Amino acid sequence: MGPLRLIILAILVYVGYRLLVGGRKKKKQAGKEKSAVGGSAAVTDVLVEDPVCHILVPKGQAIHLQHQGKMVYFCSENCCNTFIEKGKEA
Ligand SMILES: [Zn+2]
Repeated sequence: MGPLRLIILAILVYVGYRLLVGGRKKKKQAGKEKSAVGGSAAVTDVLVEDPVCHILVPKGQAIHLQHQGKMVYFCSENCCNTFIEKGKEA
């Protein structure tokens, strides 16, 4: 029973080591992606409210529409079209 226990222990240590090393590698990659996203988000950090669905959208990603001298921002073209259709009805 002695040697078998040792082998099992060795396997457990090996698996644990592999998980530790693999986990570290994954964490490093995730951190890189996060910082890249944070860098681009910092440029378009200003949030604007979509008047149709009232969601907050980063200005850089929003759909722009000049409406009665005011700039209006939307989360999607869908919301932009809804806004235009509503304006026509009113
Ligand atoms: Zn919307």
